[in-house]
Amino acid sequence: MTVTEELPIRDELRGKSPYGAPQLDVPVRLNTNENPYPLPEPLVQRIGERVTEAARTLNRYPDRDAVELRSELACYLRRMTGHAVTEAHVWAANGSNEVLQQLLQTFGGPGRTALGFEPSYSMHGLLARGTGTAWLSGPRNDDFTIDVAAAVRTIEAHRPDVVFVCSPNNPTGTAVEAETVVALHEAAQRARPEHGALVVVDEAYGEFSHRPSLLPLLEGRPTLVVSRTMSKAFGAAGLRLGYLAADPAVVEAVQLVRLPYHLSAVTQATALAALEYTDTLLGYVEQLKSERDRIVAELRDAGCEVTASDANFVQFGRFDGPGGAHAVWEALLAHGVLVRDNGVPGRLRVTAGTPEENDAFLDAVRAVMKEIAQ
Ligand code: PMP
Repeated sequence: MTVTEELPIRDELRGKSPYGAPQLDVPVRLNTNENPYPLPEPLVQRIGERVTEAARTLNRYPDRDAVELRSELACYLRRMTGHAVTEAHVWAANGSNEVLQQLLQTFGGPGRTALGFEPSYSMHGLLARGTGTAWLSGPRNDDFTIDVAAAVRTIEAHRPDVVFVCSPNNPTGTAVEAETVVALHEAAQRARPEHGALVVVDEAYGEFSHRPSLLPLLEGRPTLVVSRTMSKAFGAAGLRLGYLAADPAVVEAVQLVRLPYHLSAVTQATALAALEYTDTLLGYVEQLKSERDRIVAELRDAGCEVTASDANFVQFGRFDGPGGAHAVWEALLAHGVLVRDNGVPGRLRVTAGTPEENDAFLDAVRAVMKEIAQ
């Protein structure tokens, strides 16, 4: 059998591991920031109708520019942010991962550099690697906020072509102030006076935040992009639908790299059906926000150090004993609860699930804390 290392793969991919959280079959799975609520039955029926309709013309390629879907996404963004967004400002792809990849294919690439502030969403760096973009890891404060002065210095020293700002940040849950994004955006433009640099605000968890979207910052900033997804708030991770909002010039630019007909007719029909149920789905978001706040409070009561969260997950610790956070991850798994070890020293991340799942998680944490104390 041939092993990957024997193949003529690109040098920078040698010895690397693919992205992937363990998909283990355990009673309580709180490790991938999914929405625990299945889509409501009337929406499932509506998807059936819309997909049946789409199936009648599957002999044809889909709408290459997904105009109806982009227009409905723009309508949703207008409603959420009050900002004047049209379909010309919106682009959609198979998950926000594909959106981010297309941005790097367009604005990054060989000879170019992307900067992120870690710990953050590991795919930013992996997508940079996959597109031949050099990756630079910028600093954070001890409380996981971005150290603006240090970040500006990093931008001035390395003049990145693309800067990622994740808000709320995965895995810490930390939201980013609008002033921080403005300061980083200004520094990035100053550092690259010829054409400027692209600043991507990843708002995959935006709907769970106490703070408003940073989308209004797009006004007058053609090199700022806000990326979002239907995987979390819309409870549709299996759908694979992400989108961005930006100046129409950015939307035209990413079309230079997108595969023709990248968004299937089935995907477009399903996403349009889900958008018809926005109100119902955002109702689940409210429940998840209050469960998130309960998890934070109960973890603190249990003696954990908890990072304030604006997302549908919570980072907790500190587990600095023998085996570190990974030993606690294993102990929770032994109690039937799967959380995420993102490699942040002494910390783990738990996704807010149903009240029952969260109860099971909190019971397991209390039991494990007792075990550790012994
Ligand atoms: N951004 C962040 C911060 C994420 O955590 C995720 C998924 N875990 C994504 C983007 C990608 O999500 P999707 O491709 O499902 O839209």
